[in-house]
Amino acid sequence: MSSNDQAQDGTAIESAVGELTKASARLSEAQARVSSAQGEVRQASDAVLGQLRRLRRESNHEIGAGLLNVVRHLYWHQTSIQSRDIAEAAGFGVGNKGIHGMLAAIGPIMSGILCTGCGAELVCTSRSWVPGSPPRCPTCVSEENEERNRRSRLLSKRARAIGSALVAERVRDWRAITTLILAYPPAANGVIRGSQDDHQLGVWSNWEKAQTLHNALLQLGAGDDESFGVPAAVARDLVATGFQSAGWDSERTRQLLDPITAEAAHAILTRAKRDLDTAVEAAVAQARERYRDGSEAEPAAVWPWDNDSLYLWHQMIND
Ligand SMILES: [Zn+2]
Repeated sequence: MSSNDQAQDGTAIESAVGELTKASARLSEAQARVSSAQGEVRQASDAVLGQLRRLRRESNHEIGAGLLNVVRHLYWHQTSIQSRDIAEAAGFGVGNKGIHGMLAAIGPIMSGILCTGCGAELVCTSRSWVPGSPPRCPTCVSEENEERNRRSRLLSKRARAIGSALVAERVRDWRAITTLILAYPPAANGVIRGSQDDHQLGVWSNWEKAQTLHNALLQLGAGDDESFGVPAAVARDLVATGFQSAGWDSERTRQLLDPITAEAAHAILTRAKRDLDTAVEAAVAQARERYRDGSEAEPAAVWPWDNDSLYLWHQMIND
């Protein structure tokens, strides 16, 4: 690089820095002008508020129609004046209480936005009001909520009816299934109770369902060939867990079942699964018939098994 080039670079930097200095000065001036304008707005606002207080005094502190018109204009159209300052100056009181009193007195304005449900024009109730997305009037919103609640009640009734449909198997078969499940305690699988795995797989809760059924059968003292109904919501978990347990160790499975039955675990579980499917299918049809939704197409069944199964369980044991 020649000394000539160096001299040219130096000049270029000096000139760029010079431009920056000038631009910074212009920014400072602009900021000073903004501050000064803000001060003027504040002063003008104070003057307006002063006039408002004077009007209030002149009307013997009564908020008549004339004063209300002024307040209405200030609130909706002079947004540089704070709501609480207008409310206080007009005599509605301080803070939020004052604002609420003022809003109640001046009333809302029309927003120019139409409800997408019924076409009615939406009312703008305060400065901070924003239309919903999509815009809906209060009547349409409450009708929609009511419809949603009605529908959710209907679906949960159906789900409960389906989950509580009884799956009847011989006592011997239930004993075989619960014995298989109970042979593999959840603690031995290393699944911590209440952990994410536990919640996802239902390890502990399914094991406890097996234990409850096992104890109930013992207490009942029913004969092996008698039929015993288990709610579908519970039977579903037991059959699924039974299949898992039966698949782990075929030799141990045989040993566990030998004192109970000569039948293979798979045959027992497959029969229970088939009966479960049949019971559920019938219960779905019955629930749809019984809990009918007149105005809309039939909904798909909802299956909140995990929420309902324990409830149903206790109900069955207590009944
Ligand atoms: Zn509407």
